[in-house]
This record gives sequence, C-alpha cells and structure tokens, in this order.
Amino acid sequence: MSEPIALLHRLIRTIPDFPQPGIQFKDITPILADGDGFRAAVDLFIAQIQDANVQKVVGIDARGFLFGAAVAYALGLGFIPVRKKGKLPWKTQHHSYTLEYGTNTVEIHEDAVSPGERVALIDDLLATGGTASAAVNLVRQLGGEVVKAIFLIELDFLGGRKNLTGIPVTTFLQY
Ligand code: AMP
Repeated sequence: MSEPIALLHRLIRTIPDFPQPGIQFKDITPILADGDGFRAAVDLFIAQIQDANVQKVVGIDARGFLFGAAVAYALGLGFIPVRKKGKLPWKTQHHSYTLEYGTNTVEIHEDAVSPGERVALIDDLLATGGTASAAVNLVRQLGGEVVKAIFLIELDFLGGRKNLTGIPVTTFLQY
C-alpha cells in the first residue's frame, strides 16, 4: 500500500448502521479535516485526469463536489454539479434510477456540457453504481462523453462497475 493510500485508509471512518441498519457508512469527513489527507486524495484524482484530455469535471451530489471542485480548480477545468432533483435553478435534464426501495432522480443543467465534450466523473464512493450510471446518462443526454469515472472508495462486493460498462473506472481504496 502506498503512503497516500495508507494515510487515506487510516482516515476513513466506518459508521455501522448509518443511515439505516445494515449499512456500513464510509465517512470521509476525517480526510477533509486533515490537510495532508485532503491533498493526498485530491492529488490521486488529479493524477488520473491530468493527461486524459478532458474539458470538464462532473461531480456527484454531494461529496463528489468536494473532491471534484478541488480537482477542477487545480487543472483549470470547468466543474459541473449533478444534483438531486429540485436543487438546480435553470433548465435541467433528469434521469431516474431504481433503488432497493423506490427511485431516485438526478439532474444536470441542460447547458452544462456541450456536444462532443470529454468529461471525467468524480464521486467519493462507488456502491451499486446506480448514481454514477445515472450521471453518465445525463452527460450523454447532453452529447458529452464520460471518458473516466473515478472514486475514492469502492464497495466491490456490490459490483457497481457492472453499471458503468465501457467506461474506465478507477478507485483508490476497496472494501
Ligand atoms: P450507489 O448509487 O449505490 O453507487 O451509491 C453511491 C452514492 O451513495 C455515492 O454518492 C455515495 O456517496 C453514497 N453511498 C452509498 N453507499 C455508501 C456507504 N456505504 N458509505 C458512504 N456513502 C455511500
């Protein structure tokens, strides 16, 4: 395990039964609170994106914003938020997906990505891949191309990569 990964591993806090029984919640706020940890995390994302010839970084509500915005700033790229339904003020495209119970809807501003633009997708954690897959659909609805999807953490027992077929997926810590 490299030094940055070991540091991040130490900083991630697992909270049993949050927000509901049976979920092992991976709390990344101790990474954000640690200057070296936050920089290590952002640097890992940057290394994956800097030579990928992307024009935009798309971050997923809400923890994807924290890492995605820092990466976009460092690389001088635009940052695009994919948000939960009802949060974006301008005209949106939306995509709904199925959860274990019920559905979830995410939105993007319809002028956020231009046709032909290459984007990198960022979130803190890949679980079932439903959210990331919905974000990919939104980018495609606008004519953009998701060339990479990058997550700090992967819950690999949930097989979320299967929902992102054809997109190179990078994760730094696996559980
Ligand atoms: P999914 O759509 O199942 O891949 O879920 C991914 C989204 O839910 C991400 O935005 C994560 O931040 C959040 N999430 C799902 N499971 C967990 C978990 N065990 N710990 C922390 N966040 C999670």
